[in-house]
Amino acid sequence: MFQLDESSRMVEKMVRGWCEAKLAPRLPALEAGTEMPWALMRELATTFGVGALAEAAAKKRIAKLRAGEGGDREGGTFGGDPMMMAVFVKELSRVSPGFAMGWGVSVGLAGGAIVGKGTPEQIERWGVPLVTTKQIGSWCLTEPGAGSDAFGSMTTTATPTDAGYRLRGTKTFITNGPGADVFVVYARIDRGEPREQQGLATFILDRGMAGLTTGTPFKKMGMRDSPTCEVFLDDVEVGPERLLGGAERGRAGRSDTKDSLGTERSGIPAMAWGILERCYDQSVAYVRERRQFGKPIGAFQAVQLKIADLYLKLKTVENCVYRLAWMQKAKVSDPAYVNATKALCSQLAVDGALTAIQLHGGYGYMEEYHLEKLARDSKLLELGAGTTDINLMSAARTLIGQEALTREG
Ligand SMILES: Cc1cc2nc3c(=O)[nH]c(=O)nc-3n(C[C@H](O)[C@H](O)[C@H](O)COP(=O)(O)OP(=O)(O)OC[C@H]3O[C@@H](n4cnc5c(N)ncnc54)[C@H](O)[C@@H]3O)c2cc1C
Repeated sequence: MFQLDESSRMVEKMVRGWCEAKLAPRLPALEAGTEMPWALMRELATTFGVGALAEAAAKKRIAKLRAGEGGDREGGTFGGDPMMMAVFVKELSRVSPGFAMGWGVSVGLAGGAIVGKGTPEQIERWGVPLVTTKQIGSWCLTEPGAGSDAFGSMTTTATPTDAGYRLRGTKTFITNGPGADVFVVYARIDRGEPREQQGLATFILDRGMAGLTTGTPFKKMGMRDSPTCEVFLDDVEVGPERLLGGAERGRAGRSDTKDSLGTERSGIPAMAWGILERCYDQSVAYVRERRQFGKPIGAFQAVQLKIADLYLKLKTVENCVYRLAWMQKAKVSDPAYVNATKALCSQLAVDGALTAIQLHGGYGYMEEYHLEKLARDSKLLELGAGTTDINLMSAARTLIGQEALTREG
């Protein structure tokens, strides 16, 4: 289990080659925002046949749903091999965690939500184009006043009308927002009842719909090659065919969203893996070559301790990724583990990237050595898909038990 099989090794080699040849040269333009990543995402999908595999899995699901068999979503990108998927994300993240995040949000979060929860018609119309990257997707939960408290403070509403619903609200920090074709949007169903009784529903919107506009891309510390913006919903009229799953889910709407967040939290350790692996590989090579005081700097104990520390961080994250992949494959649900490891792996990535810069001295601070980008990008892992504190508190609540926390007397 703690070893990549031959197919994963092959994916590793092929994606590394693609990233070096195709993605790395585009980074300056992507980071500057003078080029958008969509064309490269499409190229990635066709180069490795991942789009075709995901399409086959989506079509299988459509057939099952039409035959009256619901059940879990099988397959997906890489035919449902979570370790191969993790290796794919790791390789993208060695070069650009931002690019990996944008691709993951479009295919995994937006596409995954539709293929996992949509009706056959919705999977055909929106799910397949997203998982094949023919279209770019965004996943819109966060609002200016609703971040960690995404559900409780949500003010985006869907008011029922004769023709369907009218959506009103603002979403913010939306990855892929500036170029997305499809927007998966979460809103409260507002029939005038008190807020705490309102259910949550998910809608699938298209760019170009009257009332839907996007803001200009934010200027960010990192993940600069992943465009982010606000999404404005100004009385957007939607038909019932755009309600994900075809029916209001009442309070269960929250658990649908939590499923998506769980997917995202499982993906982040793979990004941390890529960041740390690159930091480790590059640092070991550097301390062998760089000479000071007449010796390679690797001869100094203070440097050796940092290399051992990076190695331990890398191996810790790698082990978390293996276990997460095993859990996904064996269909083992362990939300405390998912939340806690997401927090741990993110912290290790941030610390590891800074250690690698330290080992490179002033050169580590230079763009050319790539470590400053990995450090800037890594910080987002501690913020997105729930901040580290929120992830750890969620894990603790599961471990202690909600019932024990609310017991009186
Ligand atoms: C680059 C980027 C891309 C993103 N992409 C998306 C996207 O595609 N879609 C999407 O929906 N969202 C996206 N997000 C939003 C992200 O998920 C939120 O930023 C995150 O959930 C935190 O919310 P917030 O920023 O409002 O922080 P806040 O919730 O305001 O938190 C601020 C601080 O308070 C702490 N805090 C809050 N509540 C508690 C509590 N109860 N106990 C202890 N501490 C607490 C937090 O840990 C944090 O330290 C993105 C964010 C960024 C930066």
